[in-house]
Amino acid sequence: MYNFEYTKASSAGAAAEALKADEDAKVVAGGMTLIPTLKQRLAQPSTLIDLNGVDDLRGITVTGDTVTIGAMTTHDTVARSAEVAKAIPALAHLAGLIGDPAVRNRGTIGGSISNNDPAADYPGALVGLGATVKTTKREIAADDFFVDLFETALEEDEIVTEVSFPVPEAAWYMKFPNPASRYAIVGVFVAKAKDGVRVAVTGAGPCVFRVPEMEQALSSSWSPDAVADIKVSDDGLNSDIHASAEYRAHLVTVMAKRAVAGAK
Ligand SMILES: Cc1cc2nc3c(=O)[nH]c(=O)nc-3n(C[C@H](O)[C@H](O)[C@H](O)COP(=O)(O)OP(=O)(O)OC[C@H]3O[C@@H](n4cnc5c(N)ncnc54)[C@H](O)[C@@H]3O)c2cc1C
Repeated sequence: MYNFEYTKASSAGAAAEALKADEDAKVVAGGMTLIPTLKQRLAQPSTLIDLNGVDDLRGITVTGDTVTIGAMTTHDTVARSAEVAKAIPALAHLAGLIGDPAVRNRGTIGGSISNNDPAADYPGALVGLGATVKTTKREIAADDFFVDLFETALEEDEIVTEVSFPVPEAAWYMKFPNPASRYAIVGVFVAKAKDGVRVAVTGAGPCVFRVPEMEQALSSSWSPDAVADIKVSDDGLNSDIHASAEYRAHLVTVMAKRAVAGAK
């Protein structure tokens, strides 16, 4: 680890101002990704700005047709929330599949989506549900938020404050997890809402993506059989010691079928 300064933010706005004043500073949320990165000397921030004392970044609100989750809300809090489980069971289910209890107790939704790991689960839920990301500067549709491998639409001095999810008619998430880390080798989030069907895939490619062909088929017939014969191309998919691109492409169809079958 390199030396760095440490400071506690009093508010999201103050943290954003501190980032603006020092381009080498970084915010820390759960630290589940950032701290190991520092330990391995893969990053050298001048200052860590800790968001953990900013209470108004934490919490879950369900109003009407929207579930809003503060950026510093942990995966465990979402997984155990009776309100989330009632409004969007798929979202509580997804949060409960992340990593292990230690990771879920520290990791936050804001940290997860800002990091945009290609194998992270939340990008699937945000794109699958058509969520909106609120930041210290603006609101960003999930479709525009996740840009590429570990890349988001966030500017250097912009902090995620909350995520709003519209409540769907039915949704579910299925993942084929890496047996060690639980990160998604492939995860598929399906949702049926008033304004249409969404199918979002995480883990398979460099960044979360939608499958329009499956969305059209499910719009006509909301059943596992509707997607059973739809294959995504393996061109450009991830390939590593855990799974080839071809195998990941196969898993997209399998996970999509299971997600539709489980939708509630
Ligand atoms: C062993 C292990 C297993 C895991 N398994 C899974 C898994 O199965 N599925 C999964 O999805 N994830 C998994 N994770 C990732 C984990 O769940 C966290 O979501 C992830 O580490 C990032 O969240 P964090 O709160 O720890 O962020 P941090 O590590 O604190 O920060 C990550 C990055 O986001 C930035 N950041 C943090 N908060 C904000 C904000 N509000 N606004 C702007 N930028 C911000 C930081 O500056 C940093 O660059 C795993 C992690 C570990 C260590």
